Amino acid sequence: MVVKKRLTKQKRAILSYLKSVHTHPSAEHIYSEVKKELPLISLATVYRNLSQMAQDGHILKLELEGEYHFDADVSLHQHCICTKCKKIIDNHDSTISILAMQKSKIQGFHPTRAQVFLQGTCFECSNN
Ligand SMILES: [Zn+2]
Ligand SMILES: [Zn+2]
Repeated sequence: MVVKKRLTKQKRAILSYLKSVHTHPSAEHIYSEVKKELPLISLATVYRNLSQMAQDGHILKLELEGEYHFDADVSLHQHCICTKCKKIIDNHDSTISILAMQKSKIQGFHPTRAQVFLQGTCFECSNN
């Protein structure tokens, strides 16, 4: 369950930047953008706030090839990752995520969230 907490100025700045893009940026990238608005913010603060917001259900934290990426879109959607240019593209079909949860067959395990990743080549990389 998502607990509604008042967001700090730092969290609001991080969230509004994340909502403005669909590129699933890394913490370092978010830091460099949010720093333009809040020059005194530190990378450690950005890391801590991102982790807390992911835990509170405000954002998604995705681990891809050893790096964390963040997403303000918390709806059930899938991520297509281009293995050539590393772009992460959203695929919105909640039935896929729901099906993945319904089809899990481990006794006593109750899935609450599915992260579905598809790997391949994007349109631009397939045509070059
Ligand atoms: Zn690509
Ligand atoms: Zn996404």
